[in-house]
Amino acid sequence: MDQILERFNGLRKDLVTKDRRFSEKDGKLFFDGADLEAIAREYGTPVYVYSEKEIERNLQEIKDAFASHANTKIFYASKSCSVMEILRSIKKNGVCAEANSLYEVRKCLDIGFSGSQIVFNGVVKKPEDLEFAIANDLYLINVDSVHELDVIDEISRRLKKTANVCVRVEPNVPSATHAGLVTAYHAKSGIDLEQAEGVCKRILEMPYVKLKGLHMHVGDQVPESDPFRKATRVLVEESMRLEKVLDYKFELINVGGGIPTPYKYDEENGNPLEDNMYPGITAQDFADAIISEVEKWRDDIEICLEPGRKVVGSAAVMLTEVCLDKRKTNYDVDGNVERHVDWKFIDAGYNVLADAQHYGWFFYVYNASQISAAHDHYFKLAGPLCDGGDYYHYGIKGEEYLLPEKTNLKDILVFLDAGAYSIESQTVYNNRPRTGVVLITKEGDVKLIRKEDTYEDMIKYDVY
Ligand SMILES: *Cc1c(COP(=O)(O)O)cnc(C)c1O
Repeated sequence: MDQILERFNGLRKDLVTKDRRFSEKDGKLFFDGADLEAIAREYGTPVYVYSEKEIERNLQEIKDAFASHANTKIFYASKSCSVMEILRSIKKNGVCAEANSLYEVRKCLDIGFSGSQIVFNGVVKKPEDLEFAIANDLYLINVDSVHELDVIDEISRRLKKTANVCVRVEPNVPSATHAGLVTAYHAKSGIDLEQAEGVCKRILEMPYVKLKGLHMHVGDQVPESDPFRKATRVLVEESMRLEKVLDYKFELINVGGGIPTPYKYDEENGNPLEDNMYPGITAQDFADAIISEVEKWRDDIEICLEPGRKVVGSAAVMLTEVCLDKRKTNYDVDGNVERHVDWKFIDAGYNVLADAQHYGWFFYVYNASQISAAHDHYFKLAGPLCDGGDYYHYGIKGEEYLLPEKTNLKDILVFLDAGAYSIESQTVYNNRPRTGVVLITKEGDVKLIRKEDTYEDMIKYDVY
């Protein structure tokens, strides 16, 4: 018996019996009470479907994890999904927002966050971005460079307005995540720790810039708590030292984001340090590591968090339709048959789900139209783009995915855990529209929260 096949089908059964999000009815997969195939038929594919309940459950997990440290503020990293109705849903849960660009700040303000509920990050903030931030009294601007600080000084004097800042430092702690997602070691962001004292001293001489504390961001999808513990210790020790040297009291410590979300579930079969698609740690492990270090300093210091992926990652699925199949043959150079490959072509390529192919990100894929059928046949999954690389590389066995052998044309395939950094990195490559987004509300209603691009949208920006 094929062990991979057996294990995968075990997971498929667990999905509809044990997973808090999913259930099965008449052979169809349901997501927090909503029939995914029916949603695909009504709104078209490819389409993303978010669950408001799951967003709330994820936020609750983070809140519970930090319950023992009352002075904690959560700023949702809007770059992980900034669809307006999702931002509204976050706000309804009493959480604040983190923004990484001028337009993210504007979206957060437009949906109803006050300036005092927004934190502004970014390695390149232009003078007009900073002026907007200062004019709108943002809770924090995390200063990423000495140059940025000079610009903030100039603007705040001119506007005669206070600019609240944190200094982003690099704690010099690596983490076992994707190389591109390590942000606290040999990274472009922040300033060197040794520079922090000089920078803070300068801030204290600026009439309108108010120093609140230090900031860091260890990385994204960090699979262990040790880097968080180490980096927090570095930040805490430096904060304590600076308080003495500068004779100044910090109000807060901003520890950034990075709580991982599971993409592979059968934990006992994988080592998170070798494959960070396995969960490794929970929000509670993250919190314990941070709180234990921070409370060596002061029990009442404010802890700011900036979680993104953990909030929305598990809160959405991507639905795509099977458009056609092909059986192709691999020949060797002499023309001998090596093997046959069964391909399923779907209407979602890397324009729709970029991470799957660019970062080699893993997603479970099931046939939502036939969730009760054994997923017993290996297929390769191809996207529609005119690019030989547009197929899904990280399957359940090598490049292959398991689906029911009798997967039909028009069946709906579901990619799980597709809620973070997905909508945000869609492209219109090949002039394929960015997708629609549907929300299953807490009350169980299904509604469109973002339209698919139309042909008119595609040409709207061309001047001709
Ligand atoms: C991207 C980012 C976050 C969010 O990271 P997640 O891994 O999604 O939690 C938080 N803070 C900063 C500064 C970031 O760049």
